[in-house]
Amino acid sequence: MDAESRTGAAGSGPHLGTGDGDPAGAMPATAAVRNRFRAKTPPGYRAGRHVALVAAFVAAGLVATLPRALPFAPSDLAWIAGFLVLLVLGEYASHRWAMHVAVIPRAVHHRHVVEHHGFFTRRDMACEDRDDLRWVLFPPWALPLLVATVAPTAALIGRLVSARIAWLFLLEVVAYYAVYEVVHALAHLPTEHPWAGRPLVQAATRHHRVHHDPALMDRWNFNFVLPLGDALFGTTRRR
Ligand SMILES: [Zn+2]
Ligand SMILES: [Zn+2]
Repeated sequence: MDAESRTGAAGSGPHLGTGDGDPAGAMPATAAVRNRFRAKTPPGYRAGRHVALVAAFVAAGLVATLPRALPFAPSDLAWIAGFLVLLVLGEYASHRWAMHVAVIPRAVHHRHVVEHHGFFTRRDMACEDRDDLRWVLFPPWALPLLVATVAPTAALIGRLVSARIAWLFLLEVVAYYAVYEVVHALAHLPTEHPWAGRPLVQAATRHHRVHHDPALMDRWNFNFVLPLGDALFGTTRRR
């Protein structure tokens, strides 16, 4: 089933076009989809408050984990590298097989494919308004949910290795989440933003833009921070 028909099957979602591959003009303008989503935004929504809440959860996570992960030891580097691989593959798996597959909970698929991919297509990657961040950032409760999800893994590490290494793992989970949010937001920066022209931001946008093509999104470029899972599973696409 292709991206469009699957989105249609999801019910109330937007009609996704084919990014920049629709010379006949059959694709509905992203503007119409965006306006429909914006109309559903609660009037009290403020992107600044959303960012502040996400930052507060990240800060609380760092404050809770960093002191318990100290003092660092040289051997921690091996743990940090191992955890990084685990997190990159976890990001890949959850993006490819949870966000892009309409399994339970469907809300995850709806939020990601219908809303995020509906709002940002290959042709229209940039936020036009600060409050458009609502469709980029995870909801503020995503980090507590993520920590709860990985808590059994942390408990296992604590049992098999040590409590300090378990805290090091949780510290890395929080840091990875923060980096993901920042890099993802940079990939959707308004084109006129002074950072939008920076080489690293352009590289992140270029890579992510391919994934935002509705015809390609179910198959390519699922990793974002480090494309390790894409390299491993052969899902890297440059254009
Ligand atoms: Zn995106
Ligand atoms: Zn996606």
